[in-house]
Amino acid sequence: MHTKKVLLVKYGELSLRKGNRKLFEHALLDTIRANLKPLNNEHLRVSREQGRFLIEDTSGDLDTASVLPLIRRIFGIAGFCHAVKTTMRNIDDLCEVANDFFAAQIAEAQSGFEGTRGYLHVPPEKRGVAPGFEGTRDHLHVPPENDLALPASRECSATHTCPRQKGASPPEKRGFAPLASFKVETKRSDKNYPLTSTEVSAEIGAKILTSAEKAGTNLKVDVHTPDITLWVEIRNDVYFYITGERGEGGLPYGLSGKGVLLLSGGFDSPVAGYLAARRGVEIVAVYFHSPPFVSERAADKVKDIASQLAKYTSRVKLCVLPFTETQVFLKENTPHEKLTIFLKRAMLHIASRLADRERALCLITGDAVGQVASQTIHSLAAVESAAAFPVLRPLAASDKQEIMDTAKRIGTYEISARPYEDCCTVFVARHPENKPNFRAIERMESRIFAELSPIMDNALNNAEFFDII
Ligand code: ATP
Ligand code: MG
Repeated sequence: MHTKKVLLVKYGELSLRKGNRKLFEHALLDTIRANLKPLNNEHLRVSREQGRFLIEDTSGDLDTASVLPLIRRIFGIAGFCHAVKTTMRNIDDLCEVANDFFAAQIAEAQSGFEGTRGYLHVPPEKRGVAPGFEGTRDHLHVPPENDLALPASRECSATHTCPRQKGASPPEKRGFAPLASFKVETKRSDKNYPLTSTEVSAEIGAKILTSAEKAGTNLKVDVHTPDITLWVEIRNDVYFYITGERGEGGLPYGLSGKGVLLLSGGFDSPVAGYLAARRGVEIVAVYFHSPPFVSERAADKVKDIASQLAKYTSRVKLCVLPFTETQVFLKENTPHEKLTIFLKRAMLHIASRLADRERALCLITGDAVGQVASQTIHSLAAVESAAAFPVLRPLAASDKQEIMDTAKRIGTYEISARPYEDCCTVFVARHPENKPNFRAIERMESRIFAELSPIMDNALNNAEFFDII
């Protein structure tokens, strides 16, 4: 077959990391291959080519619809481009292939938009492709305009109205905004090719325009702010593609070291775990469980959350730790309005001991500054010294709504929303102190620590571990 459908996988940020580049590329390649295993397709090939991966089916067109769902959530992938690869090199043939590809992409996008999840779309100014895109055209380069709101731009192709398309019908009335302009951008790695990049772009652009005119489609060339860019790459083979669906971004899972995530059944900590994992931190989750004050269903809820996170990370190690004895001890031995602070310190002490055993190097919590009394800066300062490792708080500066939006996107929202409480009212102070003095707290804890410490060790020794896949 001269020409076939393939998928290009771009990994923007990795290419910036010179020293680690090889390591990162191999980690990503392994993950993509592992995720595609269930397809059981011996013809499927994933290969690395200057700054991107190529996924193809050696027997013909790639069935992208079966491939994409398996690799969409892999951290470290900046984006996916639906492409055709051809062995033809004659410019007339290339014009034909380009024109067919372009027309097919438009037709597909305009018909079943939902089904394709929109890989043809989003003018650069809406997508956040940097103005310097021309200069770095090797990368998809999709900087996260807003880390917590990735989906907004990912989905915007379905609803956006190009500024130049005055009078376009409302989003609900159309599958895809009609395209008004395009450009062709050619990159020629094979310097022996007889035409320059500009000449190739011009030839292909002219062909597309002529066909559009024949078909009665109103299309024009706009080299500055086109609605759509057709990319052409002349290598050993020639590739045509249109900037596609955005990936999760971030860094390959596990390459940034390991961290212990304090995972409750609430909305925040799952999102914190997702964000840390997206930066490449391998997650060992710990849930402090307090039977009989909370039901087993609370622990099940945390297991379900962990398995949702595992959809991004392949697996998550979850430690369910019996916390009741520690809680009861602290309730009896500390002032009630300070109990929450001592409980959180105990969690950080135990999580640090777990981190030691697991060879993890940080703790991760779902704290957001000012969200509740125990998350004021004073309270965070009062718990910090209990941690033997740096405490990452990926949500520290996030608003609740942003956190909820991310929870919805990553699929933990519905699970966290289940009504089982993760903390028994017996242990929640009616008037928790929101400006504790950290020195006073540390002094108080030091007086009871000789008794508290073995209780915490005992809890860790009796913890149950689950490998959530
Ligand atoms: P979340 O929504 O994550 O439960 P929250 O807003 O309810 O957070 P807190 O209950 O004060 O706030 O908890 C702050 C952080 O402490 C949580 O995000 C989590 O990292 C950790 N944490 C609290 N309770 C538990 C628990 N039972 N097991 C594990 N971690 C916990
Ligand atoms: Mg909570």
